Amino acid sequence: MNEDMKEIQVGETIEVKDLAKILGIPITELIGSLLKEGILATINASLDFETASIIAEEKGIKLVPKAAIEDAEVEDEFDKQYKPKTRPPVVTIVGHVDHGKTTLLDYIRKSDVAKSEAGGITQHISSYQIEHELKDSRSGKKEKRKITFLDTPGHEAFSAIRAQGTKITDILVLVVAADDGVKPQTIEAIDLAKAAKVSTIIAINKIDKPGANLHLIKGQLVEQDFATEDMGGKNPAVLVSAKSGEGVDELLETILLMADVEDFKARDKGPAVGVVLESNLDPKKGVTATTLIQKGALKVGDAFVVSGEAGKIKSIEDYMGKKIKTAGPSLPVQLTGFSNQPLIGDILKVASSDKEAKAQAHSAGRSASARRINIATKSDLSTLSRQIKDSKMTTLNVVIKTDVFGSLEAIKKSLEAIKTDKASIKIIHEGIGGINESDVLTAEGQEGQHVFVIGFRVNPNLAAKKAAEKAGVKIFTYDIIYELIDDLKDLLFEAMEPEKIEIQKGKGKVLKIFRRGGKAKVIGVKLNIGEVEVGDYLRILREAGEDEKIPEGKILKIQHVNEELKKATAEGEFGFEVEIEEVPEEGEKVEFFKIEYNKPKL
Ligand code: GDP
Repeated sequence: MNEDMKEIQVGETIEVKDLAKILGIPITELIGSLLKEGILATINASLDFETASIIAEEKGIKLVPKAAIEDAEVEDEFDKQYKPKTRPPVVTIVGHVDHGKTTLLDYIRKSDVAKSEAGGITQHISSYQIEHELKDSRSGKKEKRKITFLDTPGHEAFSAIRAQGTKITDILVLVVAADDGVKPQTIEAIDLAKAAKVSTIIAINKIDKPGANLHLIKGQLVEQDFATEDMGGKNPAVLVSAKSGEGVDELLETILLMADVEDFKARDKGPAVGVVLESNLDPKKGVTATTLIQKGALKVGDAFVVSGEAGKIKSIEDYMGKKIKTAGPSLPVQLTGFSNQPLIGDILKVASSDKEAKAQAHSAGRSASARRINIATKSDLSTLSRQIKDSKMTTLNVVIKTDVFGSLEAIKKSLEAIKTDKASIKIIHEGIGGINESDVLTAEGQEGQHVFVIGFRVNPNLAAKKAAEKAGVKIFTYDIIYELIDDLKDLLFEAMEPEKIEIQKGKGKVLKIFRRGGKAKVIGVKLNIGEVEVGDYLRILREAGEDEKIPEGKILKIQHVNEELKKATAEGEFGFEVEIEEVPEEGEKVEFFKIEYNKPKL
């Protein structure tokens, strides 16, 4: 890159007309340049940062990402109108399976939710808010402080941390079991934390168990470039036992102190914005959705838009199932009033009126259907199957990117269903959002394996396309889940190694050995039963020791008297030319069989 290149700061996305302005070229010229790169864009189309950078570079301008884009992205006109106020931190617990995430969430819920909600109404939705008493270190004054915990099954952690370009989780608690250390899902969580730039507290759990090796764990975290504070990193570490509750208070305090430092704020007035965490179809209530309010005040009767559809809030329940009239920042609530099931990870936005909500839903729906290009063809797919077949691989490795978390979930469930003990599809990387260069590079990084990138209702950006071309990584995009699953099923079937099956052909007794030397021996056999053809196999029927191999070999020729035959039939005497290591003894019994390969069913 040219050192003297002019640098300009831009956000994660930029509209074509704005980019043209920055580059100082006519819009038509920019649209032309984009076309050359295979991108059909209109004046108002949004380009992602990578695509914009490539185009800008051609024009001698270097684009650099604007700092603090994440928050800027979701800023709206009301943020200026209403003063931001401190809000409870939103916390997600992540970590390897069995390291104690659920136990920790349960412990915190039981100890603090129950305390604050006298009467003990059973918990209603899985995400919840607690109140923890924090003593001010200087004044000694006690103060009740709220913390929101999002409960997400491990694989949904991504959507709980970031969705549609917005940060949802403020603080991550990474649980690492003291007796098990850093494991694959721990590393995944670390990658997530780094990618989403979320402050993380390391909770070293199960300290009550023997075999805990804190030093080892801290060393492992250093190796992951995710060191704890005492090892020179920036992650506070707390020792806990989710079972006994030891250290949990300290963990909650650490969360609150971190929240103080980061000073999480949001306006608590004006139209609400929230993110869908779960959505369900309730036989009594109809569609319900657990939503985390991010800012504003959500009220019963508010018109809103989510997942391209308009709705009107019919009811709001808090996490204890109590009906409430309004909900403010950081509160997880259950809502009704949807016309359709909203998608997990989608943003719910309150509109000024029903009419406005409908208009917004209309344009959102249109832009959703306008997305998409298909860059890999069916013939690519069959080439890929052939390659896979040649390598006799039984696992397909895929990188999956989807538009929303709901589709990712649905696709994963379907993939799970087509898994057999012979073949499976392994998702080596997943995420929400367009296919970018790093997705392609992740795929490319899997040396010697066939990895491809799948986009569901998302497309690769220019950088991804270029990287894919260079690396020979295939990208497939789909709009319909069953088409995606069908294609993957086909690929998987091709990938499966066929099972070897032996089919009995006949039995006989060795009469005489005609040729003992050379690769192909000639053995005279009386065929007692069956029919044997050239290409079948002969095996000597003898007892073999554990490490001994029973000699067998392929039949190259069949002779009867002086005639060469294709087939030998019982009962007759034949000379078999067999490619076999060892010759049988005269009088030994032999069997004949054929080998077939059969694909197991998917
Ligand atoms: P998750 O998969 O991360 O949600 O893990 P779980 O919360 O289901 O915990 C897995 C197992 O570890 C369960 O049998 C828990 O009882 C146990 N466990 C969790 N935390 C602790 C702990 O602090 N000490 C001990 N001894 N066991 C724990």
